[in-house]
This record gives sequence, structure tokens and C-alpha cells, in this order.
Amino acid sequence: MTQKPIWAPWRLDYILGPKDEGCVFCSMPKEEDDEKNNILYRGKTCYVVLNLFPYNNGHIMVCPFRHLSDYTALTQEELTESAQLQQKSILALKQAFKPDGFNVGLNLGVAAGAGIEEHLHLHIVPRWNGDFNFMPVIGQTKVMPQHLKSTYEALADKFR
Ligand SMILES: [Zn+2]
Repeated sequence: MTQKPIWAPWRLDYILGPKDEGCVFCSMPKEEDDEKNNILYRGKTCYVVLNLFPYNNGHIMVCPFRHLSDYTALTQEELTESAQLQQKSILALKQAFKPDGFNVGLNLGVAAGAGIEEHLHLHIVPRWNGDFNFMPVIGQTKVMPQHLKSTYEALADKFR
């Protein structure tokens, strides 16, 4: 039996909280408690946050503060800063965890697998050789808060 590495971010990109509480990508930064919400960095138009349901250890998302779903509606400033934060995130992950590779991308629309389609978020997932075996274990499972905290600490330090 052979297993092939697959990239299936849609499996884990699903609702983080009850829908009636509004948009989680809007509410997290508004709480002003970045440690609690695992927000690693705040830019002017976008921020960086750890995914609570990671595809892999160190799964990061870059989100605009603005609530929008249409990638083509991003301003030049939002586009530029999201790209800069993407680069910053890759650098931080390299320094903290020395991955062998990365998957970086967007799921635009439900048809493309977006769990929260109404608010854009870009995924950055560090990969290690042979790590696809990790997915059945951690897939669709909320990681231990303690584990997430240590990941947060290791990364937050690199963003400072
Ligand atoms: Zn939102």
C-alpha cells in the first residue's frame, strides 16, 4: 500500500465557532487579547493568527482586518501587506521549526473548500518530509491547548 502526500486544507478549514456569534476573523482581533486568540502579529490592514485546527504544526493564517470575501476587492495596501506578512510568516516558521517545505494558498468560495468563505484568509502550512502520515492523526481535531500555546510562543518570539 502506498500513501501519497496530499494537500487538502479544506478538510480543516471549517467553522471555528457557532455561526450566530458572527465572524471569527472579525471578532478575534477586536477582543484585543492577542495571546488568548493566538494572534502572532498585527499589521496596518492585515494580521497573522495560528489556526486552531491546524493541518500541521505551525499552521498560520494571514487575514485582512476588513470583512470581505472577494480577493479582487482587496486594496493595493491590503495586497501588499498580506504578501509581506506571508513572507514574514514563512521566515518565522523557518526560524522556529525548520520545515522542509510549505503549502501557501487561498480557498476562495465553498466550492474551493473554504470553511469560512465570507472572510478571506490565506493559509501557510509548514511541511516536513514524510509528514503526511501526521494528518490522519491530527486532522479535524483540535490540538491540545498546551501544544498550541508552545507553538504560539515559539512563533510570537520570531515576529517580535
Ligand atoms: Zn469577518
